Amino acid sequence: MKLVIFGAGGFIGSNLVDHLIADRTHTVVGMDIADDKLEGIEGPNFTFVKGDVRKSDRLVEELVRDSDVVVDLVAYANPSIYVDTPLDVFELNFLQNLKIVDLCVAHGKRLFQYSTSEVYGKPAGDAYVEDASDLILGPISKQRWIYACSKQLLERIIHAHGLRGDLVHTIVRPFNFVGPRFDYLVPAGATGGPRVFAHFMSALLTGGPMYLVDGGEQHRAFTHIQDCNEAFTILLESPEAKNEIFNIGNPETDISIFDLAALMKDIYRELTGKEADNELRVISGEEFYGSGYEDMDRVAPDISKLSALGWEPKRDLRTTFRDAIAFHLDPKVRASISG
Ligand code: UDP
Repeated sequence: MKLVIFGAGGFIGSNLVDHLIADRTHTVVGMDIADDKLEGIEGPNFTFVKGDVRKSDRLVEELVRDSDVVVDLVAYANPSIYVDTPLDVFELNFLQNLKIVDLCVAHGKRLFQYSTSEVYGKPAGDAYVEDASDLILGPISKQRWIYACSKQLLERIIHAHGLRGDLVHTIVRPFNFVGPRFDYLVPAGATGGPRVFAHFMSALLTGGPMYLVDGGEQHRAFTHIQDCNEAFTILLESPEAKNEIFNIGNPETDISIFDLAALMKDIYRELTGKEADNELRVISGEEFYGSGYEDMDRVAPDISKLSALGWEPKRDLRTTFRDAIAFHLDPKVRASISG
């Protein structure tokens, strides 16, 4: 198959390209504004096209037309961006993605849309089930929800096309993917910015504080990026995946952010032989992200739908974070810390 991946240069995209081109079954064309995460990822069945989907309508249409499957990963995906520039999030994560949906409809192409676990919002209770859980978002004054809201409306439009019979699609909802090439490092003491792994990793490398937003009692379940790549291959090959939504997550890795700080310190010591004596500093969500932030207490996936297609996450919590930390201990990566 010939796949075009929009957003191929991001964390999920670069790992997916690496995975898909390995066995030479598929041909992959990747488009992105940046290619630094694709360094060293090459093969005769991979072509990279540098460009901004916001400014390249003709090129995007050509790439869709020339492919069998379209994978859409274009998105801002950091809470600090939802708080700082909510309109940019709507513009990119909804309007630009909608253009890609429309092109898939016009040219009869199968669409893989990467959505987010955040569409579930904050329902109380059990693990989130794709076709049954309510999607509950916070008030408009908490602008972080524009991300989940944009992704949710996009899902609803894609679903409606499926009902009308003019689009074959699969929607995936990622639950805190972690691994090599994740996010970016920040200077000691920085707030906002990337997600929790990158903040804690930066602290380990710089000796700065590890911030526990609102005390770190909230939980997340993290998923190794290689498990996510394997899930994609199964979805690509399963006829049952057509016009369906799937959580990709690992319920076994549920951990509080407070405990995650200790776990990452421990893995750092194991890999480097050095003690990590970073201060754990409690900070409010407002102070860390700015006003308009609101958190989710727990983000737990139900994965029975994807498991029924033969997928199980294989990497445990420690392996997931060890692989991500080891990547950043590479001296070349370490040199990229700014400040
Ligand atoms: N968080 C934290 N310290 C940090 C960065 C984030 O305590 O340095 C918290 C954040 O408030 C949230 C959790 O960690 O409760 C996960 O945040 P992240 O941005 O990684 O992802 P998401 O909220 O999208 O799951």
